[in-house]
Amino acid sequence: MNSREEKHELILKEAYTAAEQAALQSLKLKLARSSLSADHTMMRFLRARGLDVQLAFEMYVMAHNWRKTNEVDGQYARPPPMERLLKLAVPQELHGHDRGGRPVLIQKIGQMHLSTFIKFDPEIVNQCHIHQMEMLMKACEENSQRFRKRVTQVTIVVDAKGLGLSHRKAIQFSRGTSFIDKNYYPETLHQLIFINAPAIAPALWKIAKPMMDPSTQQKVLILGRNYHAKLHEIIAPEQLPKEYGGQCQCEERGGCVPEVPAAICKEAFKSEYSSTKKLSPKLNEIVIGARGSHTVEVEIGNPLGQEVSYLFSTSKNDIGFAVEFLPFERQPVLGAGEAQHLHQHAAAENEQKKRTLKAQLLLENVRYACPPDDPMTGSVRPNCAGICRFVFDNSFSRFTSKQLFFHVSVEDDDADGARTPSSSRSLSRHRFQSLDTNADSDEEEELPVLEVF
Ligand SMILES: [Zn+2]
Repeated sequence: MNSREEKHELILKEAYTAAEQAALQSLKLKLARSSLSADHTMMRFLRARGLDVQLAFEMYVMAHNWRKTNEVDGQYARPPPMERLLKLAVPQELHGHDRGGRPVLIQKIGQMHLSTFIKFDPEIVNQCHIHQMEMLMKACEENSQRFRKRVTQVTIVVDAKGLGLSHRKAIQFSRGTSFIDKNYYPETLHQLIFINAPAIAPALWKIAKPMMDPSTQQKVLILGRNYHAKLHEIIAPEQLPKEYGGQCQCEERGGCVPEVPAAICKEAFKSEYSSTKKLSPKLNEIVIGARGSHTVEVEIGNPLGQEVSYLFSTSKNDIGFAVEFLPFERQPVLGAGEAQHLHQHAAAENEQKKRTLKAQLLLENVRYACPPDDPMTGSVRPNCAGICRFVFDNSFSRFTSKQLFFHVSVEDDDADGARTPSSSRSLSRHRFQSLDTNADSDEEEELPVLEVF
């Protein structure tokens, strides 16, 4: 730190109590010189541990090592490759500041494209989250300089408009991100404000509240549809998007927190996600001998068919690839209950049926040269229930065995509503109807919005 920076640091120092000052000095003495950071950073760890120096020390060292091991300072200075795509799935932006000069993050979780979001590898979501946290910390530093006072926390506005019961599927992702926040970025949240919260939010909050530590409980504010006055007390209207009663429109980037239609999000995901090597699913690996072949079969339980995606590559040389489909006998059109009942029995009968089925060729056998850094990807979509058979063919090779990496998966598109009814759920009218519209909708089961809260 040069003398000018030191001067800045002095000006921007937080006012600490005597107990905080003493704890900070003790923590500094315990830490190796090389692992010291700015006072306000170390103070966040102390506050997170109620000024217990030993506990704060352990927490700080763990976070410090995590940063070093994961090269957080170097790796996360730039956005991870999938951040843009993730933002399409869950609209969110760092936008302005609150009345205390803290950076504001706006997340439209109710507008997330759920069916796309849940396809992300949780590890990717974590990486994007780390980058976001780094950007928030950077914004705190910038705001500190700008407002001539130390800013160490952020305010998060969560727009719950459109939030439905189906969004519970996304909860699995919050485990990783909240672990990161809790352990590596303690005391960075000033306030978490839900707006447009559904009517059942207070009931849910009652259940969730005891599971949180008291200091976090204090930071959560749940507002329904009439949130404007309260929100504007916290964030000045000129810092807020117009859609939240503010004055900002961020025209240069197409809106303050831009949203894209589900179809565009889905298309971008399809073309960008699976083609990114880093994001390839966990691959099966097998060696196919000379003159040999390998067959992978997946069952499609849905009477209206389902999409099956594939990805494969070989370590060297080419491999033949064909896709066959063995349709199950078509069932007469039945009521929803009957169809569901029949489907439950279908699995047990599949083996027997398979022997009598006549295979249809979906993709004829063609040889592909596809090294691991440029795998073949694609999907097929049979239009009824049956067995989808992927044939990896090396029978043309008289001497060379092939090392094959592959992944096939039946797309669970029940969250889309648009495509097909899921085999594991009842064949509701909504799902059958939506087949005609071809619209991608994540908005099923929308909850009523809280009127006054
Ligand atoms: Zn704006």
